[in-house]
Amino acid sequence: MSDTDTTTTTAPATDPLTSVETHLAEILAGIRPLPPTTLGLPEAEGLVLASDVVATGPLPSFDNSAMDGYAVLTQDIATASEQTPAVLPVVAEIAAGDIGAYALNPGTAIRIMTGAMLPHGTELVIPVEWTDGGASRVSVRVKADPGHAIRLAGGDAKAGQVLVPRGTRLKPMHIAAAAAAGHGTVSVHPRPRVVVLSTGNELAEPGTPIVPGRIWDSNSFMIAAAAREAGCLAYRQAGISDNADEVLQTIEDQLIRADLLVTTGGVSMGGEHDVVKSALRELGTMTFRKVAMQPGMPQGFGTIGDDDIPIITLPGNPVSAYVSFQVFVRPAIGALQDDHSIRLSTVKAELTGPLRSPPGRRSFLRGTFDGRRITPLTGQGSHQVATLGKANALINVPEWVVQMQPGEAAEVLVLP
Ligand code: AMP
Ligand code: MG
Repeated sequence: MSDTDTTTTTAPATDPLTSVETHLAEILAGIRPLPPTTLGLPEAEGLVLASDVVATGPLPSFDNSAMDGYAVLTQDIATASEQTPAVLPVVAEIAAGDIGAYALNPGTAIRIMTGAMLPHGTELVIPVEWTDGGASRVSVRVKADPGHAIRLAGGDAKAGQVLVPRGTRLKPMHIAAAAAAGHGTVSVHPRPRVVVLSTGNELAEPGTPIVPGRIWDSNSFMIAAAAREAGCLAYRQAGISDNADEVLQTIEDQLIRADLLVTTGGVSMGGEHDVVKSALRELGTMTFRKVAMQPGMPQGFGTIGDDDIPIITLPGNPVSAYVSFQVFVRPAIGALQDDHSIRLSTVKAELTGPLRSPPGRRSFLRGTFDGRRITPLTGQGSHQVATLGKANALINVPEWVVQMQPGEAAEVLVLP
């Protein structure tokens, strides 16, 4: 039996299947987060924080003007109106970045720019739009309350406040908060290095000619791309023939640059042809099993090498490999970074067409999701990579459901 997955045949009762949840939980149980490292902000972008980013002082750190305008005292503009403007001499001008010490005297105004430090004693800032914009003398046409257009020190965050909690995957707004608080570096889990290996005598490099009986390797490119998409550095090691010694030797050679190894192919039930399985089984640190899912039934995982590098062995059919990556490898990549939010999000969507699913197995059917409705694609075979290329979602059909009708609410995994 191979991982054909094109029919709804279920495994014989003598060979119990492991649930998707159990398989995933056992993979994750063996994965430790990579030790934190300190990186500069540009390098840390997209990585997961290992320690809180804390405000070392108040934010903003000094009282400053929220607008271009005039620093004044309330009493000096209390009666200002269109008809009776308050006219004040402008005694100074303060630009952003000016570190001089200014004080505001009663009966005067100081021209001030957005972000400039407030002169001592300032009660409010009148926006330039409410005045004649005068340089030596200003005519204020609108009055305002104390505190107007003033940004107080600590008004955004207090000293010691957590700005970005550990466990956050750093996006631009988090980078901004860290930078604004003066942190040039942050502590993060490093970007996981994933080595992707594809095995099979039939495989040829895309871009080279093939003869009948051979196919172009799509898995290694796909899985490497998916790993990068999930925030990893991915290295591709393709063209490994169906030879157990070569498979083992290649894996050992790759350990030096791997935090996680992912293989495709060679793990189904084809005996000696399933070289990944036969080569790795000898190590005694691997589990190979059938998982109650379709596609993607033959699965394996374990650790390898002196450093116990985790390895996940995916089936060879491209759709099986893709689905298995999203269901098992993506969370494993999250575990390497102590990020448990990396799993694909699930939404409910209205099914536009009927679907079938084998009893006792979780189906991940390829579909197109328009934000509200999900349409199953035609061509659900696990070799049908062209159909995969049209999908933007997986329909997650529970083990106990064997068919669904149009109009029913289906659970949809939105693909990244
Ligand atoms: P296997 O799991 O090695 O028995 O492979 C199952 C099916 O997937 C076979 O049709 C293989 O030719 C195909 N396959 C295996 N590896 C790849 C690959 N890297 N790219 C595309 N198809 C593959
Ligand atoms: Mg093979």
